[in-house]
Amino acid sequence: MVELRAMNESALHQSFAGDVYNSAVYLKRCFPEINAAVVTAIGQDKLSTQMLERFNSESLDTDFVFAHDTKVPGMYYIETDEAGERSFSYWRNDSAAKKVVEFLTADVVEQLSAGDMFFFSGISLAVIDPNTRAQFWQKVEQLKQAGVSIVFDPNYRARLWQSPDETKEQYHHAFNVSDVVLPGVEDFEMLYGLNTVQAVIDFCKPYDIHEVVVKNGPKSVVTMIGEEQLSHNITPVTHVVDTTSAGDAFNGVYLGARLSGRAIDDAVNLAAKAAGTVIQQPGAIAPKDIFQQAMRVAGL
Ligand code: ADP
Repeated sequence: MVELRAMNESALHQSFAGDVYNSAVYLKRCFPEINAAVVTAIGQDKLSTQMLERFNSESLDTDFVFAHDTKVPGMYYIETDEAGERSFSYWRNDSAAKKVVEFLTADVVEQLSAGDMFFFSGISLAVIDPNTRAQFWQKVEQLKQAGVSIVFDPNYRARLWQSPDETKEQYHHAFNVSDVVLPGVEDFEMLYGLNTVQAVIDFCKPYDIHEVVVKNGPKSVVTMIGEEQLSHNITPVTHVVDTTSAGDAFNGVYLGARLSGRAIDDAVNLAAKAAGTVIQQPGAIAPKDIFQQAMRVAGL
């Protein structure tokens, strides 16, 4: 999406963001040896061209960024209060990205099958045209059959859905097919009324999920890998500027670290460091130099 945020009373800063894209950016910045491809649809307009250029400038693979004939990208505006908590206004109901499943031909799915991992979120599910959901699940199933690890972050945004029941029905598919799930406690509280890490872990148990990583803001991260449950401490950041994309940065760096063979503890520490750095900067994508420097200090 096109991201807008106020610089002052008369100027807006424009950039690009979106939860899965944010994760890809942070994964690639930390683990440049991993090929990270973005699967989405943009338009043929000027902002779409700039968006594609931005993807390339972050060294992302853009082979699966499809250009829709008539649609344009979605847009959102971030407002941030004094505590750094954000609220969003969206113009995305008719975006090109809603049509992405139409571009996932058998040939594309075959190419994606060569990957190690396929990551999507609750926002991906909410955004895709509901008429293409069945097709989406079929394609995810094909990727799973081909040995691709399926990864899901529930990232619940109530206003993108018709009803909580509709969301739960779609999330049930997601939990069923996923090998790795990266939920936030806040999401589970809003959707399922579950407000503890343990309740989230227990919710996931009946599903065949190999790796559950529960994010609980500055309080903790709890991992459940197979039968082993571990709690990881987070060093709280005191100067929070904008919490946008904390979870996305966490996801990208965690997944990159795991794909690189790093142990759980190491992966969580790096991911938490990345998230803690991003929330000290405005917007979803932190400046590259500041981010890289913080990650070097963290031992990357
Ligand atoms: P989301 O962005 O999805 O709402 P969280 O609020 O749980 O997710 O934050 C994601 C990650 O960001 C946490 O797991 C933690 O590592 C980091 N984080 C969030 N808030 C803070 C904070 N105040 N201080 C340090 N780290 C934080």
